[in-house]
Amino acid sequence: MKYPALKNFVGGKAVDHKGSTLDVQSPLDGSIISSVPLSGANDVRSAVTAAQNAFPAWSAMTIRDRVQIFYRYRTLLEKNMNELAELIQEENGKTIPESIAEVEKSIEVTEFACSLQQIADGEVLEVSKGVECRIERYPVGVVACITPFNFPTMVPNWTIPNALVLGNCMILKPSELVPLSANKIADLLKEAGLPDGVFNVVHGAKEVVEAICDDPGIQAVSFVGSTKVAKIVYARATSKLKRALTLGGAKNHLIVLPDANVGMTASNVAASMSGCAGQRCMAASAMVSVGSVDHIIDQLVEEAKKIIPGKNLGAVISKQAKERIENYITEAEKDGAKVLLDGRNYKVPGKENGFYVGPTVLDFVRPEMKIAKEEVFGPVLSIMRTNTVDEALSIQKSSLYGNAAAVFTQSGGLARYIAERASAGMIGVNIGVPVPREPFSFGGWNESKFGVCDITGKSSIEFWTKLKKTTIKWNPESKTNWMS
Ligand code: NAD
Repeated sequence: MKYPALKNFVGGKAVDHKGSTLDVQSPLDGSIISSVPLSGANDVRSAVTAAQNAFPAWSAMTIRDRVQIFYRYRTLLEKNMNELAELIQEENGKTIPESIAEVEKSIEVTEFACSLQQIADGEVLEVSKGVECRIERYPVGVVACITPFNFPTMVPNWTIPNALVLGNCMILKPSELVPLSANKIADLLKEAGLPDGVFNVVHGAKEVVEAICDDPGIQAVSFVGSTKVAKIVYARATSKLKRALTLGGAKNHLIVLPDANVGMTASNVAASMSGCAGQRCMAASAMVSVGSVDHIIDQLVEEAKKIIPGKNLGAVISKQAKERIENYITEAEKDGAKVLLDGRNYKVPGKENGFYVGPTVLDFVRPEMKIAKEEVFGPVLSIMRTNTVDEALSIQKSSLYGNAAAVFTQSGGLARYIAERASAGMIGVNIGVPVPREPFSFGGWNESKFGVCDITGKSSIEFWTKLKKTTIKWNPESKTNWMS
């Protein structure tokens, strides 16, 4: 094993767990690179106790003092960029530029967290003569963050800086498929000066998630992963009377009109469907064309041909994922889709045991096909042809999901028409991956997100804080006010 067996990180140090372990396999070549603890409810309990012990002192610090630690954390992310990128690549299989982009986004959200000292404000209003009402923000308490395999560093960092700067203590349960980055994040936070117990990592799978939902010492649960599990976690955490915000899967539609800029549209759509091997909740997996767009599709296929597994296209997470993606393609072909570019059975020379799928473009997919409705989570684009903008919109709106949607056109009026009507939380106009920059928040609609608030940006302030309302009479002798 290239890396030593991982341990949980609780109370500022590596600790043993009770239970078995799981091998960590690199998708790049199938090799076993480490092992991850499969912890249980007792391990969650120890982490909750450590977080509860740290909470009084951490939450009593001024936000300005807490932010100083995150300035240092930001610098450490930058300093450790290459090491983090290599870890991400090894455990997840994405390319180095994609791994670096993850660390860069982690830096961006940390910078936003540092600005919370200026913007996480309350309110004060004189409600009668000499009487004021104030609203102040308080941390929620001990919170948990459960994350998926596709962004081992960025998704944990969507929550860590904001939640901690706002005074909460946290337990992170990373995906058992990509657990290495989480321990590196814990080390960097410790090096930045974070007090012991404020941030803890409990590794494992379903059992840990269930214990997090059930533990009475945890006040809020955030989750990012598939819709199936997002629903389970939302229902279980809220049934235990916790706050929950659970982000699920996606099926993102790009509506392409004939007047779209050909080169820009083709390269954007190709990049969106294949980036991170299509394993992004913002990936374009369906292109809905309106009218005659053959000139754009031809160019798109040329762009997709430039995307080569093992070079500028990473691996998918596992053998099972590769099989699942290839089965979707085979089934779509049987159902009448035309394969313009076929990424099945791809082998990267020298990495024959890696899990690679080449970019795949399917034309003449029909909305009722399985591939048109379900999340494929691989570098596969399904093109659906329509004759009108409203027909294209009705396909987008019939999706169970609603993470992102985009339109490619040079007509401002049509772009606005589609942006207003699409049923998704994040909209792109001539942008294939419309991830909002900070301080705008990240979060979808429909079955792509359960719970109020978004997970990043200004909206997350509401999730990570609770409001205290104080009413004060400054002049008890006054006879003119009604607050007596
Ligand atoms: P997943 O749902 O399988 O796993 C997510 C987390 O839940 C992991 O930590 C895992 O250990 C845990 N888990 C898995 N099964 C569980 C169960 N039955 N009970 C309790 N916990 C369980 O998701 P994944 O495969 O790791 O990630 C890919 C999915 O995440 C895709 O659907 C993708 O769209 C989604 N995703 C969504 C967003 C978003 O912002 N909406 C962002 C990234 C990924």
